[in-house]
Parts: sequence; structure tokens; C-alpha cells
Amino acid sequence: MSILSLRHYPDPVLRRKAQPVRQIDPTVRRLVADMVDTMRHNSGVGLAAPQVGVSLRVAVIELPEEPVIVLINPQVVKRRGWRQVEEGCLSYPGYRGEITRAEKIVIKALNLDGETIRVKAEDLAAQALEHELDHLNGVLYIDHLENQDKLYPLETEPPQQAD
Ligand SMILES: [Zn+2]
Repeated sequence: MSILSLRHYPDPVLRRKAQPVRQIDPTVRRLVADMVDTMRHNSGVGLAAPQVGVSLRVAVIELPEEPVIVLINPQVVKRRGWRQVEEGCLSYPGYRGEITRAEKIVIKALNLDGETIRVKAEDLAAQALEHELDHLNGVLYIDHLENQDKLYPLETEPPQQAD
């Protein structure tokens, strides 16, 4: 297993619509294992294959205290509600943005055994799922910004005192 290098905006692979996985073969298993390593190494809660330069419909999610979810060829079944969230992306480092995401989401996908799974999620988990599924369609969270004022550079140093 290895840590893969992350692709950053404006790398064109991030804008491509990823291709469906046709067969869950050793190459796909290896990719998933490497993506999990890469996600953990970068302290991410999710990672999509285009972020490591592979244009395939594969994503992994790992929320605090939860097992890893592997999603192959995921599809949205249902979305409900909306909420304002703050979001960042490993492929667009140094910024956070305020956008709108679904409150609840249901996703259908294949797991590594080729079985169909349904994942029901809300709040942070729903946000992570929508974020990763967007990557598979070449969409980044910055595309959801109402305007540029909703994008904030991350502070690298503590704010200075007024005096
Ligand atoms: Zn991202």
C-alpha cells in the first residue's frame, strides 16, 4: 500500500467525468487501499479517485469513529433538505467555503465484493458523500459558492491583535 500524490485544482483530471468501474479486479482493490492510506495521511474524511489522478468512479469515506466506506460506481438515490455548511477540499488547499448541502442523502453503490450497498447519511456524513460524489462528476465545492465572498483563505497564523 502506498500514499499517492494528490492532484490539485486546476488539474484537468478533477474536471473530467470519471468512468464507471467495469470489474472489481486487483488493480481496483489496490487503488482503494492506496486511497485509504492517502486519505488518512492527509487527515481527510473522504477521497475520490480523480483526486489521485485516476478517472474512475471510486470513492472512500472515513468519518471519526466510523468504519471506512468504499463506494464503487455510487449513485444518489435520494436527497432531502438543505443546510449551510463550511467545506474544504484536499484538492483545493488553503481555503474553506460556505455552501449549501443536502441534510440527508441516500446513496447506492457497490462495495469491494461487488455487492450493492445503500448508505443513508445525514449532516457531516451526507456532506462528505455529496462532496466525493461531486468529484466523480468533475464538480468541486467552489462550484457551489454563491459568490466569491463565501470563500475564505485559511489562516496560517493566529489573527493579529488590533493594537
Ligand atoms: Zn474534495
